[in-house]
Amino acid sequence: METGKTQALSRVPVDGLRGVGPKVVERLAKIGITSVRDLLFHLPLRYQDRTRLVPIADLKPGAEALVEGEIKDAGIGYGRRRSLKVRLADASGSAGILLRFFHFSRNQAAALKPGGRLRCFGEVRHGPQSLEMVHPEYQHCDRDELPPLENTLTPIYPTTEGLQQSSWRLLTDQALVLLDQDNAMPEEWLPWEVRERFRFPPLAAALRLLHRPPASISVADLRARRHPALRRLAFEELVAHQLGLRRFRHHQKRIRAPVLNGDRSLRTRLLARLPFALTAAQRRVTEEIAADLERPYPMLRLLQGDVGSGKTVVAALASLQAVEAGHQVAIMAPTELLSEQHLHNLRDWLEPLGLEPLWLTGRHKGRERAELVARIAGGEAPVTVGTHALFQDDVRFRDLGLVIVDEQHRFGVHQRMKLKEKGAQQAQIPHQLIMTATPIPRSLAMTLYADLDLSVIDELPPGRTPVTTAAVPDSRRQEVIDRVQEACTQGRQAYWVCTLIDESEVLQCQAAEDTAKALAAALPGLRVGLVHGRLKTTEREPVMADFAAGKLDLLVATTVIEVGVDVPNASLMIIENPERLGLAQLHQLRGRVGRGAVRSHCVLLYHAPLSPPARARLAILRESTDGFEIARKDLKMRGPGEVLGTRQTGDIQFRIADPAGDEALLPAAQQAADIILERHPEYVRPLIERWFGGRVEYGRV
Ligand code: ADP
Ligand code: MG
Repeated sequence: METGKTQALSRVPVDGLRGVGPKVVERLAKIGITSVRDLLFHLPLRYQDRTRLVPIADLKPGAEALVEGEIKDAGIGYGRRRSLKVRLADASGSAGILLRFFHFSRNQAAALKPGGRLRCFGEVRHGPQSLEMVHPEYQHCDRDELPPLENTLTPIYPTTEGLQQSSWRLLTDQALVLLDQDNAMPEEWLPWEVRERFRFPPLAAALRLLHRPPASISVADLRARRHPALRRLAFEELVAHQLGLRRFRHHQKRIRAPVLNGDRSLRTRLLARLPFALTAAQRRVTEEIAADLERPYPMLRLLQGDVGSGKTVVAALASLQAVEAGHQVAIMAPTELLSEQHLHNLRDWLEPLGLEPLWLTGRHKGRERAELVARIAGGEAPVTVGTHALFQDDVRFRDLGLVIVDEQHRFGVHQRMKLKEKGAQQAQIPHQLIMTATPIPRSLAMTLYADLDLSVIDELPPGRTPVTTAAVPDSRRQEVIDRVQEACTQGRQAYWVCTLIDESEVLQCQAAEDTAKALAAALPGLRVGLVHGRLKTTEREPVMADFAAGKLDLLVATTVIEVGVDVPNASLMIIENPERLGLAQLHQLRGRVGRGAVRSHCVLLYHAPLSPPARARLAILRESTDGFEIARKDLKMRGPGEVLGTRQTGDIQFRIADPAGDEALLPAAQQAADIILERHPEYVRPLIERWFGGRVEYGRV
């Protein structure tokens, strides 16, 4: 129910604006901007303050600033790189700031003479001698005729090729004039009670403020997201995102999926054979999944559980439910090694029930692969474990009922989309279970993945003792080696994990080989084994098996063991250069110890000096063994885009909302979405449209 006026704004095409020719129309269209309304919601990424001059003595490295002063000296320096260096000073009493130009014309250099006055804008940095600005913007100025200062902060817009910031300012200037011509625009779609409660400013005022913040507002305040105008728009974006996901989910419920209501016979037999009883949390999530699988529309469920919480057996039970109902199951892991680990587990559990799991990865080629693919297509393979190779075009399941994706600590949200496409070729689409060891706070998960149901295993199997973690500089390497000696002499086993900055697997494996040799020499009494990603299965397996059987004392490994073994007697882990790994990966690695009743230790053998973020990461790890706690801190440090890997996949992109930073707003955003759905369903479409326009994730719906 849009008003005529709003329609008007969203209908005013950009090509009516000054400076907008066919080329610009095309460029704008590429990023989804076709109307004046779209322009108004194209919000700045950040701001510059050119409203005031900063005394040079007050400059802070890292900040951008406008300064004015007199050139004290200027000349060309021939250091590592030839550069034009200009020293500028003002009355504030410091020695001045160095302006440095690596590219400059002869005329430019000639014009920058001592005694001249300049006004410059740029980022202040630490230089070898003093503070510097590299390639600042500058203009010559006259003491009698000073150029005016800006009245508002300068917005910096996200842009696309061929559009300068000046074009964006010209365009938004015009859009703001149109906005000013009618204060009722654009239409307000947030429920009144929500606006009241948060004392949100009106939409038009908020937009105006964010496009052209008055000089009285500080850039720091805007960056810290404290300003109500910003919060108001971020809130609306979160609400629109919620609505979009819910619409997707609603749509999902109209798609058919096979009803997997088996007779529980296989599940009962598996449970009876397990050497342990399920934890209460495992029982709960198993029931949640079981109920979903019995419904005629596709399950889309995220199963979170810390490393070692026992997700695999939950996956096995879900698989058996599908098999009982006569359907096939595909279990996908991110790496070949992890898929192999699943294969082993499933073999142990399923073969006694008369089921033989298949394994399909990139390593299967030629005839072998053709045979596997044929068995899958013929429906002879009830359970297939593999990697991405499972979802290549020529792999067709006869009767796929359930797909389980083990993400470990990544989220392949794009994969779940792809699957949907795959399923669409059939009359029904399979149920999906996504497992992850990256626990994210529930409120955040519900925002980012409101289209997924969430199950959480919040309890570890009994009998585990928490791991004690210490950070030790590699100058004390010998002490650590002695400690390995001592533990192994007492009958324990240990891991020694090698990491490398270099992504190259070859180098990593080389490093592990060298380390294994050196350790074997330093620890003559111990039996040392080596595994890394370049060993063939047939070479790696016996080593793993020996370690599991206690025939090896020390296992030197690359990070591959992250997903590999499960040896309760291993109670010491050394991680070399832990500063090179992220928190999630370190936590995951450490999860390989602490699986038995003995007290376990993890030594983070770092190379000094540590960068501040690395120091913070190691401290977090020392202080906590709780994956949820660690993930929460990781999110705080890096933001959800990095942690969840969504930045790379471009899956979730907010214009101004920051779900981690705005966590406090999330519950209210959900409530607002409820209110809108219930009382103002006519706003749903336009709100989604306003914020997410033609973007793919909603385009599908
Ligand atoms: P993750 O959730 O990290 O994938 P796994 O499924 O690999 O954890 O389980 C870790 C280990 O705990 C495995 O050896 C598994 O057999 C064992 N395990 C799982 N559930 C239980 C339980 N309820 N009691 C005891 N051990 C369990
Ligand atoms: Mg696992």
